[in-house]
Amino acid sequence: MSLFLSLTIFLVLISLGFNMNNFDKKEPIVSFRDVCVSFNSTQILKDLSFDIYSGEIVTIAGPSGSGKSTILRLLGKLIYMDSGEININAQKLGMSFQRSALFNSMTIWKNVALALEETTNLSKKKINKKVQAALELVSLAHTEKMYPDELSGGMQKRISIARALVVSPEIILYDEPSTGLDPGTASKLEDDMIRLRDKTGVTSIVVTHDFDTIKKVSDRVLILYDGKIRWEGTKNEFLTDESPYPRSFRERTSIEDLLPPT
Ligand code: ADP
Ligand code: MG
Repeated sequence: MSLFLSLTIFLVLISLGFNMNNFDKKEPIVSFRDVCVSFNSTQILKDLSFDIYSGEIVTIAGPSGSGKSTILRLLGKLIYMDSGEININAQKLGMSFQRSALFNSMTIWKNVALALEETTNLSKKKINKKVQAALELVSLAHTEKMYPDELSGGMQKRISIARALVVSPEIILYDEPSTGLDPGTASKLEDDMIRLRDKTGVTSIVVTHDFDTIKKVSDRVLILYDGKIRWEGTKNEFLTDESPYPRSFRERTSIEDLLPPT
């Protein structure tokens, strides 16, 4: 009897364990709760809350100055919040900045290898393998001996993505990836972003005000305005929902008219 009882308890615990595991899978990889940030007494993020799930490409869409880069800087721990809570369920983040920020005096190989050389004890051979793999992911393996100013702006941006990817991050952050690129180059970069997610499963957080980028890469869209997420939905909902925020993006009307009077 007691054997039966302990067996039952054992099975119940195991099934609880399974349930916990299932539950874990739905845990967000990033969550913001009531995050506030002010600069010089102007509040930029006002009790901002949102969740991001593993493997998705989420775009945070908002007009210039709405605090998009601030969100990425918080994630990268480059700045701190005034209050609130941020949970990141990942060991490594890769950040590709709005400007490529490559070192002009170093070869492309060195630019991409640097993070590994500085933060790991990997052998040169292993580092080289990872650099090659990262460059191949953005289809630029042939540029390794070149210098940044020998490459176009679009190629430099793709190198900065390779540099972010070389440490095998679980999350990659893109700040305005298509800004400053002609439509054809932007479109290729967006193809890269989708392919990277498909190949590596990396969770991708893209901040942008570019409608074409949002339309192309997003699984889900969050609209940031006046310090808060004002709307969220799937890409399809973003493209069809008749509510004011997605409509204002689609019709490129002024989002400023949408706020309720305070
Ligand atoms: P976005 O990326 O959406 O264009 P940002 O997050 O860069 O917007 O900035 C949001 C607002 O906060 C802007 O008005 C900007 O001038 C201001 N801001 C951002 N960083 C700082 C800072 N370090 N010091 C002062 N003001 C800042
Ligand atoms: Mg910005």
